[in-house]
Amino acid sequence: MKLVIVAALAVVVIGAVALKKGKTPTESNTSAATAAAPAPGGGSEAKAGPGSTAKLPKLIDLGAGKCIPCKMMAPILAELKRDYADRFVTEFIDVWENPDAGKPYGIEMIPTQIFFDATGKELFRHVGFFGKEDILGKWKELGVDESGGKAAGGIVRETPVAADTRPREAVCFMCDEDIQAKTKTVVKGQSEQRVLCGPHCYFIYLSSIVGADPKAEESKVSVMDWGSGNVVAATAATYLYGMDAKGRPTIKAFADKEAATKEQQSSPGNLLAWDVLRSKELATRCAFCDRAVYPEDACGVKFGTTHGYGCCTHCSVGVAARLKQDIEVEAKDGLTGELIRVKTLDGQIASLEPATAIAWFGQKKGPDGSWMSAGCFKQGFFVNQGNLAKWLDVRPAMTGRQISIAQALSDKMKLSPEQIAKACKLGECK
Ligand SMILES: [Zn+2]
Ligand SMILES: [Zn+2]
Repeated sequence: MKLVIVAALAVVVIGAVALKKGKTPTESNTSAATAAAPAPGGGSEAKAGPGSTAKLPKLIDLGAGKCIPCKMMAPILAELKRDYADRFVTEFIDVWENPDAGKPYGIEMIPTQIFFDATGKELFRHVGFFGKEDILGKWKELGVDESGGKAAGGIVRETPVAADTRPREAVCFMCDEDIQAKTKTVVKGQSEQRVLCGPHCYFIYLSSIVGADPKAEESKVSVMDWGSGNVVAATAATYLYGMDAKGRPTIKAFADKEAATKEQQSSPGNLLAWDVLRSKELATRCAFCDRAVYPEDACGVKFGTTHGYGCCTHCSVGVAARLKQDIEVEAKDGLTGELIRVKTLDGQIASLEPATAIAWFGQKKGPDGSWMSAGCFKQGFFVNQGNLAKWLDVRPAMTGRQISIAQALSDKMKLSPEQIAKACKLGECK
């Protein structure tokens, strides 16, 4: 059999290599699998326990030592073989070195993974790179208890441990932080007003409105004069744009430019008019949802040779869905700030450091009783479940559930371009 790699670039994106000349990667699909070959690799004799000869389900990966997605699967297969030996058998066949061994499976692309039950019946096949979480998820779906009977034990909190008793006027509409009198920012609506913790949250708010007209919007905004606490139209104020000890911008508003200049002497920063402040604040955006972000608050996302930001951890993995590109995410543990690194390949997790890292999906109950996202400020990644539990301890009003980072990514990969265009927009966040 002559084996040919078709269109090297497309192959890396698809994550699979065509086996026959003239066959393009798109001609193969994962659902055409069930009619395929009998299960020559079927149920295998493996020890489920001392002295036992019970048959186990089996995963066969057909690939080659030199194909890129195959190489990325090698450590995953090694881990599965090591950690789940009592649950299912994991086998690798190199079809370039050993074409005869691969023939009975009738595959057209590599890598291809075939799932067999304990009797040798084929249950499912997948073409292309398949991440560890996805493989374990598939086993679960196929009824194989990959957890080995140990309860998964994900944290779920459907009702608050304690209600948030802060008055609505004291809580930022966007970020949920306490509002300080000196930086309070108010947006007048038709019937109600939104209270925000400061101008930065206003620009997040503005960038979360579908089709916002900044000129029409800005006439509704007022800020507090830093010295007197009096209300000032946002467009009329002068802003002292400084920096806190961590390098994060600070914004102080002044009705009077002279007062701003005076404050500048003791508190360094640039004096800006509203228009300049706006363009500065809107310059850096979430690469998934377009919200204004400060890099200091955001997750780093690398795609190709470009760096961008995700305004929250879930948005950061969503960049893979929006750009249809493999990405690398650098997120901070919500509790300790420890780094969590996620690499994606073909819309799936290619690597996760540390491997114990998990996600919190902050959710709230909508008016119709269904669960919906609680928004970007209520999401997070954690290096382990223990850190998540501690983080939740000090957030008694928080509701939601623990999910895997693979799940966070797969939730985003399911979105259509239309849904992505509305992602995280006010009133549209799902
Ligand atoms: Zn806020
Ligand atoms: Zn975002």
